[in-house]
Parts: sequence; C-alpha cells; structure tokens
Amino acid sequence: MVQFTDLPTDVVDTILTSLPDFRTLSAAIKVSKVYTYAVFNSHRQTILTSVALNLVGPSLPHALKVVHCRDQPDEIINLKHDESMEASKAFLTSLTYRQRRFVEKSSSAVQKLEDVFSQIYKDRRSPTSVLTNAESLRLRTALYRIWLFCIFIEQWNNDDDDGDENEDDDGNENPWARWNANWDAVVAWLAEYDTPDLLDVVAVAPFLQEVLRRIMNSDPENVGAVYGQCSSVHSSEDGVPQSYLPTEFPMQSNPIHNPGLVYDLLRDQRRWKELIEGSEVSAAMFKIALEKVCVAKNLNAETTLAVAPLRFINEVHGADDKCFNCDEVRGMDLYGPPNWHFLGGVMSATPITQNLPGLLLRSPIEISVISNNFFNRDDFDWGAFTVEIFDFEMPVPEEVVWDKEQWYCQTCITKLFTTRFPWWWMARPKSEHAPAKENCWYGWNCRTQLHRPGHALKLNHFCEPTRDDGKSPEQAWAQVQDSDA
Ligand SMILES: [Zn+2]
Ligand SMILES: [Zn+2]
Repeated sequence: MVQFTDLPTDVVDTILTSLPDFRTLSAAIKVSKVYTYAVFNSHRQTILTSVALNLVGPSLPHALKVVHCRDQPDEIINLKHDESMEASKAFLTSLTYRQRRFVEKSSSAVQKLEDVFSQIYKDRRSPTSVLTNAESLRLRTALYRIWLFCIFIEQWNNDDDDGDENEDDDGNENPWARWNANWDAVVAWLAEYDTPDLLDVVAVAPFLQEVLRRIMNSDPENVGAVYGQCSSVHSSEDGVPQSYLPTEFPMQSNPIHNPGLVYDLLRDQRRWKELIEGSEVSAAMFKIALEKVCVAKNLNAETTLAVAPLRFINEVHGADDKCFNCDEVRGMDLYGPPNWHFLGGVMSATPITQNLPGLLLRSPIEISVISNNFFNRDDFDWGAFTVEIFDFEMPVPEEVVWDKEQWYCQTCITKLFTTRFPWWWMARPKSEHAPAKENCWYGWNCRTQLHRPGHALKLNHFCEPTRDDGKSPEQAWAQVQDSDA
C-alpha cells in the first residue's frame, strides 16, 4: 500500500492547494512535520492563496480587506482602493489564527446571505444561490464594502470618544475640525468608487434590511408584531436590543434563514447591524455620506439612494408566474415547498387564528394557550407547520382544492391557514398544547370564558358545545358582533 509519505511532493502540494478551508489545511500540515509541513512551508503563499480562494471565492480581496481593517481601522483610508489579488496574497501569509477563523466565519455568512438573496430576488424555487458568477461577485463585493463603511463609522465613533478625553490636554483641539475631517475622509473614500460600484454598495443596504425584517418577523418573541414595533425593543446598555441576539433565535430548524450565522456576523460589527436596522446613527451617516458623495460625483441623490437590490441580477426566474388559486401574476411573491420557510418572515399568527369558532378569538386564555404553546415556541417552524396544514384532511368540504406542490400568493396561503387552523388545532392531541381539562358544556360559545379568567382557565373551551342554545359557532359569533354594534 502506498503511504501518504510516498507521494511525490508535487502531489502533496496539489492536495494542500485543493483543501476547502484553513482548518482542514491546518490538520493536513500537522500530519507530518518533515513532510506535509515542509511542502506547505516551501509554497506557503501559493497554498494559502488557493485555500483562501477555495473558501471565499473571487471576492477574496474584499473579504481580506474587511479582516485587515477590522483590526486596523485606520488602514481603511490608507489602503485606498487596493483590492488586487497581489495585495491579498501578501496579507494572507500574515493572517493570525483568529483572523483565519474570521475569514471562515464571515465567508459562510456571506454565502448564506447570497443564498437568501437569490431566493428572494432571483429564483424562489432554489434554496441555494443560482446567481451567476458575475452576479455573485458583485453582491459579495458590495456586502464587504458596506461592511468596511461600518468599520469606518465605528472607528470614527471611537475617535470621538478619545477626542473628548484628550480635549483639555490638546488645548487646540476643535471637535468640529475632527468631525469635518472625518466627513471629508469618508466622502473621499466612497467617491473613489466607480459609480456602478458605488450604486452596488447603496443597493445592498435595502436587501440587508429586508433580511433583518424577515428575521424579526420570524422571531417567536415577536410573532404577530411588525418590524416597526419590534425596533423599539431596545433594552441593553449598548443599545443592541436583547431580543435581536442569536441566542434568542434558536431557529436551527429553519436552515435557510439560519439567523444565528447571519447574526454572529452582524453582531461582530455593531455599526453594520445598526445600518441594517435603518434606524440608527450608522444608517443616518450612510445616507448623509451618500448625499455628499452624490454632490462630489455630480449624481442625482434621489435616484442614487433609490437603487434597489434587483440591480444585482440580470434575470428573474418565474417573474410572470401566477398563483395557482387566484391566478394573479405574483412572481417572487409566491410560496411553495422550496420557500415555505420564508412564510415566517412575512406572515403573522393573527390572521391565522381569525377563523376560530364561537367566541374563542375573544378569549384571552385560549389565545394565550395557542400563542404560548405554539406560535411563540422557540422551536416553532413555519415550514413544518405549512406541511402539516397542507396534509391535514379537513372533516368538512372546502371551497378550494389545495395542492401542496403548487405555488400560492400570500393572500391565498393565508386563506388556507385561516380555514384549516381551527380544525387542525382541535385535531391535535390535547397534551401537546395544554394540560387535560374538562370540557365546558357551552364549549366555544361560552360567554363566561370572556369575563371570568378562573372559569376560562379551569375548563376547556376549544370544543363543540354540548349544551347550548342551539346556535352554530357562526351564529353565536354573529350574535356577539351584533351586540357589539
Ligand atoms: Zn392567490
Ligand atoms: Zn365555559
């Protein structure tokens, strides 16, 4: 049997250069100090460059610039716009272990962002990116560049803090001079990008905001809430809303969003996170900086700031597709098995529970049983829920024949959820969502459940009335509505 150490060095070299990431490379060169390590050592720069390219792809120079400037923010301006592969090669050999880990982490997050981008804007049928190489490179380049901007703003902010402390010592320090110099620097830096590159940086921001909006909407803590409401949940000292942090998003069952990964990345640069939230200092500064750049480059600020993420793609797949139920052309706003997980980002529990029979919708107790034990559960998975709803066999005839393999618009899929949810919920084993309770005689039509929490808690009301005034749930509901009117 041929031993690894029998292989010619050029074969070992080929093996090392084809490894997918730094961790594997590190394991491989530890195999033998005199052998694999020796080969690595003699071709250090080429091997590192090709492993880095395998890992990050052609956006490597941009990724490395972020890694570098993250540790040395002052360099952003000095480095100017040298994004050549040559500059990257030199930098690669000096990467620390921590920096290599960061390259790995950030590139998988950027990959994930590209997958999400592709499924939102280009092809809803594919959970992994179908962007062309050119589209992918443009998107990733813009992602890394906007990240640099955030590092710059972070550094600026730190400068301001230092400035305050040193003001008396310096005596002649004029805070406004520093402020203006920083503005000039950031504007000059942005203005140096060619106009198309600059527009790419502008266009990537609304995409990131959209991702964030969807993650927020999927957050079990905020089911039913809209983004505007969520963004007021600022609680921790550094202004980062606690509920935004990855530990609060245990949605591993939702691999496409995989917000933990994206959030790790966002948290790394608070300014980037702020920029995406669109409500913080960085977002305002980004806008002001762009307005100044527009003046410098003689661009129309209104049209420049309005560029959209669609800018990155040449062709949208299925843009003219229709909803299987209502026949409306809805294109990317259609939902089918490959993107059901996105429903969490666009739906809320509120319309789904609209069709609860009798007075259940008015009962705070029953509603909280549903939200606490279902929609608000950390492991709640919209994709799995949608499968169950489609598979559910309704005990009563339905107007619409639903087909799990088809694509539906949000309005129609909401209709499906609304119609089936009460029946589906009732058919679930009770132990799954509530302790076994005796049924109230008046079932969902019981009026007492609305004003006596003790009664509502003690008895189950998610059941058909066994002793009532002969009214159907619809009649009872109509009666309540009449009496309210
Ligand atoms: Zn429809
Ligand atoms: Zn009752």
